[in-house]
Amino acid sequence: MSNKTLAIIKPDATAKNVSGEIIAAIQQAGFRILGMKLTKISPEVAGEFYAVHKERPFYGELIAYMTSGTIVPLALQKDNAVEEFRKLIGATDPKKAEAGTIRARFGTGIEANAIHGSDSDENALREIGFFFPESEIVAVNK
Ligand code: UDP
Ligand code: MG
Repeated sequence: MSNKTLAIIKPDATAKNVSGEIIAAIQQAGFRILGMKLTKISPEVAGEFYAVHKERPFYGELIAYMTSGTIVPLALQKDNAVEEFRKLIGATDPKKAEAGTIRARFGTGIEANAIHGSDSDENALREIGFFFPESEIVAVNK
C-alpha cells in the first residue's frame, strides 16, 4: 500500500478563490504536502493526463475545462493516501457527495467538482511523476 496521492485543485475552485480553504481541509485531514504548484496546462498536457478517459463522452469538455484556468496540483502523503483522499473529496458528482466532503462543499457540478484525487496507487505514482518529475517525491516512502 502506497502512502501518496496526487490532488489537483481544479479551475472552478481556483476561480472561486477557495484554494486556501481546500488546502486547509486537506491538512486538517492529516495529509502532508510534498509538492505543490500553481499552474495552467495546455490541451496537450491535459489530454495526456486524462488519456484513460479518451473514449468517454465527456473527454473533450473535460480537457477544455481543465485548461480554462489556474490549477493547483498537490503531491500528498498519508497512510493509505489514495483511499483516504477519495473519502475526503467525496463522489464525482458534488450533489451525490457526502456532506462535509470537499466536493460537496466546493463543487458546482459533475464536471466542475473542485478537486481531483488519484484512483489507485499505480496511478498516484504516475500522476505525481507527471506534475512533479523530481524523483525524490515519488521515492519518499516514510
Ligand atoms: N467528469 C465529467 N462528466 C462525467 C464524469 C466525470 O465531466 O460524467 C469529469 C469530472 O471532472 C471528473 C473527471 O471527469 O472528476 C474524471 O472522471 P472520473 O470518472 O475519473 O471521476 P473522479 O475519479 O474524478 O471522481
Ligand atoms: Mg478518476
